[in-house]
Amino acid sequence: MKREFAVIGLGRFGGSICRELSEEGMEVLAIDTQEEKVNEFKEIASHAVIADAQDEKVLKELGIRNIDHVIVAIGDNIQASILTTLMLKELGIKKITVKAQNDYHEKVLNKIGADQVVHPERDMGRRIAHSIISNNILDH
Ligand code: ATP
Repeated sequence: MKREFAVIGLGRFGGSICRELSEEGMEVLAIDTQEEKVNEFKEIASHAVIADAQDEKVLKELGIRNIDHVIVAIGDNIQASILTTLMLKELGIKKITVKAQNDYHEKVLNKIGADQVVHPERDMGRRIAHSIISNNILDH
């Protein structure tokens, strides 16, 4: 069965998640405030809409309640990221993944009930460091 996802914020991180999920055959609703970003994903995602995710009415109209897993990939605007996460939580979304900008942002996201908080740059840095170490061990 196809699973339904929504990706809010189509920057490098959100855009890449949206692309991969779509390529894997998942139903993806792509949301961004910028028309050009949305146009870029019109042919990739199942639906792509220009919307401000901080607006609860807009989220309801988009039928976000029926979506299994929402990824909040809003970048620099920490306030928008927190508010959006809070509203998704209040709307009863089962799984919410959020990109954090810093440790304080992460703390707040955990407090308001985000299911998964990611720091793409930090997490990838750690992964690469471990892979460098294991490659070095194999080389010796
Ligand atoms: P990265 O490249 O590391 O993923 P980024 O620089 O792409 O980060 P931003 O450009 O700051 O991150 O934000 C990601 C996207 O989120 C942008 O395309 C922006 O338009 C979108 N965005 C910001 N606020 C909102 C909002 N309230 N509702 C929907 N989309 C938003």
